Amino acid sequence: MRKKIVAGNWKMNMTTAEAASLVNALKDDLANFREVEVVVCPPFTALSTVSDLVQGTHLDLGAQNMHWEKSGAYTGETSAEMLRELYCHYVILGHSERRHYFSETDAIVNRKAQAALASSLHPIICVGETLQEREAGQVESVITRQITGSLAGLSAKELLDSVIAYEPVWAIGTGKTATSEQAQDVHALIRTVVANMHDATVADGVRIQYGGSVKPGNAKELFGMPDIDGGLIGGAALDAKSFIDIVRAAV
Ligand code: PEP
Repeated sequence: MRKKIVAGNWKMNMTTAEAASLVNALKDDLANFREVEVVVCPPFTALSTVSDLVQGTHLDLGAQNMHWEKSGAYTGETSAEMLRELYCHYVILGHSERRHYFSETDAIVNRKAQAALASSLHPIICVGETLQEREAGQVESVITRQITGSLAGLSAKELLDSVIAYEPVWAIGTGKTATSEQAQDVHALIRTVVANMHDATVADGVRIQYGGSVKPGNAKELFGMPDIDGGLIGGAALDAKSFIDIVRAAV
């Protein structure tokens, strides 16, 4: 049985004070909630504060990015070890905004995933096609390429320690959600690709989140699909009530 996982990607939003207020509101409702794994991913500047606030609760902490090297002359970067020191357990890698604005390739995402796993961080590895690629009938080839490239060389255990997030680029922050059938089709495709890289046990065990304009109103239907194991939530994660409703829709 795959436990559902809902993660909030706060992106470049929330001062430390705002982050504290949001996480306190989440704690009021979700501190003892065990049915779904709940992860909050604040910006780096708020990680330490949020880390302190989630200690002793069932809320988990994630970062939005990291560098693959352990330390060194990489101005502006953050290592897996630094994230672990703040009790981060997850890190989002290869988000489409990182791929688009910061030229992250599958090879870079793969290096980061290897480094995260080597430091006992669970990577949330994002893949997803653009609208142009979908309209050109390239969903299967794009997703296959991203999955095989981003997950290359990971052992079965490392894959099971990872989370995959399917986030069609055209649905992120646009208000356009993939239909539950469109999302399900790609999640099933991802399991087939993982089965070809490893075996059916790994394909069946790895958790795959859906992301892209998930809201309280569409979460239940999406999370009810057989291969969708929760969500990666952007905009709606910035509002405590919306995020809580989405989390509860995953039960
Ligand atoms: C995201 O950024 O990962 C995301 C899914 O954003 P939104 O929910 O706002 O579409």
